Amino acid sequence: MARLRQRECTTSDFRRYVQEIAQLMVPAVTANLLTLPIQVETPMAMTTGRKLERDIVLVPILRAGLGMLEGFLRLLPEASVAHIGMARNEETLQPESYYFNAPISITDADVLVLDPMLATGGSASAAIAELKKHGARHIHFACLVAAPEGLETLNSEHPDVPVHYPALDERLNEHGYILPGLGDAGDRIFGTVQA
Ligand code: URA
Repeated sequence: MARLRQRECTTSDFRRYVQEIAQLMVPAVTANLLTLPIQVETPMAMTTGRKLERDIVLVPILRAGLGMLEGFLRLLPEASVAHIGMARNEETLQPESYYFNAPISITDADVLVLDPMLATGGSASAAIAELKKHGARHIHFACLVAAPEGLETLNSEHPDVPVHYPALDERLNEHGYILPGLGDAGDRIFGTVQA
């Protein structure tokens, strides 16, 4: 996280660190998912193992959430991927989804929503509401850096959704950026920072 936050971190290193931290988060994010016993035949004997009870659907929120996707897929290669794009409605000033593409199995799946920065929580909350509208019932939210304001929003608007974050920062500035944070995650992942 310290390397990721550094101003001097290059785009390629930033992208790699986001992916690596996301991968390291997977055991904690999936620790409480339901599993079922299964019979396993080894070359020596029968034994029991466990498998996930539900399919997993990963949902990166466009665009910065895409940076976390590969890390999750490395440990969850059988997961399906849904995409959701959020943008501010210029009339209502509220975040709305402008793109939604999800597998039909979303209702019975464990749905893991990915977005590196939980700032105000507005987009995350609206994305979760959209997923619920499409039937999702078992949702987790995973980010790299959370602000207290965003956590409060998600906990009050979606108390059923566990939120996973390796870093809890101090606060938001007047532009909605997390302090100390790491700047604009999307710009740093995709190399679109203005010179
Ligand atoms: N989104 C970002 O990318 N960074 C922040 O600090 C807040 C929202």
